[in-house]
Amino acid sequence: MSFEIRDRDLLARIGRIRTKSGVFETPALLPVINPAVQPIPPKKIKELFNCKALITNAYIIRKHFADKAVHKGIHKLLDFDGVLMTDSGAYQILVYGDVEVSPEEIVSYQEGINTDIATILDVPTGWEVTREYAQQTVKETLKRAKKLSKIKTRDDIVWVGPVQGGNHLDLVAKSAKEMGKLPFEIHALGSPTPVMEQYLFDTLVNMVLTAKMNLPLDRPLHLFGAGHPLMFALAVALGCDLFDSAAYAIYAREDRYMTEYGTVKLNRLAYFPCSCPICTRNDPENLRETSKNERQKLLAQHNLYVCFSEIRRVKQAIVEGRLWEYLEMKAHGHPSLLQALKRLKKYEDYLERSSPVTKRSGLFFFSSVGLTRPEIVRHRKRLLESYSPPKEAKTLLLLPQTTTKPFHKSVEQRRLWKEIEGRVSERVGRIHICTYAAPFGVVPAEIDEVYPLSQYESASPFDVETIDYVAEQVENYIVETNYDRVILLEKSEVWKGKIVAACKKACRKRKLSLTVIKSRRSWSKNAFNKILKAVQ
Ligand SMILES: [Zn+2]
Repeated sequence: MSFEIRDRDLLARIGRIRTKSGVFETPALLPVINPAVQPIPPKKIKELFNCKALITNAYIIRKHFADKAVHKGIHKLLDFDGVLMTDSGAYQILVYGDVEVSPEEIVSYQEGINTDIATILDVPTGWEVTREYAQQTVKETLKRAKKLSKIKTRDDIVWVGPVQGGNHLDLVAKSAKEMGKLPFEIHALGSPTPVMEQYLFDTLVNMVLTAKMNLPLDRPLHLFGAGHPLMFALAVALGCDLFDSAAYAIYAREDRYMTEYGTVKLNRLAYFPCSCPICTRNDPENLRETSKNERQKLLAQHNLYVCFSEIRRVKQAIVEGRLWEYLEMKAHGHPSLLQALKRLKKYEDYLERSSPVTKRSGLFFFSSVGLTRPEIVRHRKRLLESYSPPKEAKTLLLLPQTTTKPFHKSVEQRRLWKEIEGRVSERVGRIHICTYAAPFGVVPAEIDEVYPLSQYESASPFDVETIDYVAEQVENYIVETNYDRVILLEKSEVWKGKIVAACKKACRKRKLSLTVIKSRRSWSKNAFNKILKAVQ
């Protein structure tokens, strides 16, 4: 197997996985095929959706077809010539209590049916279990994982090493670290059903990022049981590369219609908010009157159209470097997603370290939720850890952001600078202009063209958290640098006195002199003259 990464944004990547039955691109949604009850035949899924990889369940295949599947091979049995992944059926064994199948048998059976990507028989942790039980699932899964190399006889099958631990994060970390040491090519994280059903996306953030931080990053990560388009963008942004969806078929059976923002019962729809072939040819009323069997097929198709188009939107967002913007848009489709996005604050350092530094596009800043994004965290860190103002700079002249970017090329700053040069001539190097701006905080004039300090859009009024953030950055900047004095121009309407308060606090701490020039409109003639007087 090879996994080649072509594009990245946040922790998301667009990659290509090569297996013995072909190549497919990630992030990928693998529709679950249940040969016992399958609304759309695998071959048709390939034709309709250009779908190159499917997932099925080795345990169910074994139960229904036993040796027939070994003789025919899984590809012929399912009539699908793309990439086939098999789950071990650990979940079913857990639920139905079948102890007749041993971990060794499931390994050999998957080799026997000639699957492309196989999963060891792990022990799912599940939900609301004691710590002791969770610990036991981690231990037992690891034990089975270590045994794999002794049981397997083929080298052309890709093996998946599942990470367990549920919502016991220290156990997830341990499980991921140990699994990562074993020669698996793909890892998987079991997402307990309640996490998806009850939209516990903030829990999902904790689980996925804990696993990611402890797994080798060059191996793809499969998120088990996450088949709803509502959360693809979030899961991909967290670094999940593969998904399986049984939901498209299960929902169809229950007359549930997927949208990229949630699921609706068919009988509640007056119109179809979708333009897939099914929704274009039908309306909700005539679909309700179609026979149950036919309706199930059509709904399953629509559900898959929605899933695949969401995956494409997420990929396009990665290519454009706008995945964060896309996440924020999605987050306003469900409160739990917004909560999950806020949870990322806890992981902002890791997110920053793992995200690409340059991008093809500028940033849209909507609200304080965006303060967690890597570009903003990166600027903050750089300013504090590796930036120093010009050596001769003694006076910090702190100006409010202008509409024009870069700030030092705005009419206001250029005019001011020209006047200052005229008045103080050879002492001009002593004055250092910095702009305070949302969302970046303090932007020194000489670096304000560096990406992304000029390549963003924001609009005032800013929310309280954003104003507080900028004020905090101003305070930290003054405390950490070595000026003799600070001159601040405050635009009180926008900054609510918070920047003045921050400067006062910092200057008191550093025993610096502070001159505050207040102006309702930031560049009134009066304010302008006061600045010129102050710098002399
Ligand atoms: Zn549709």
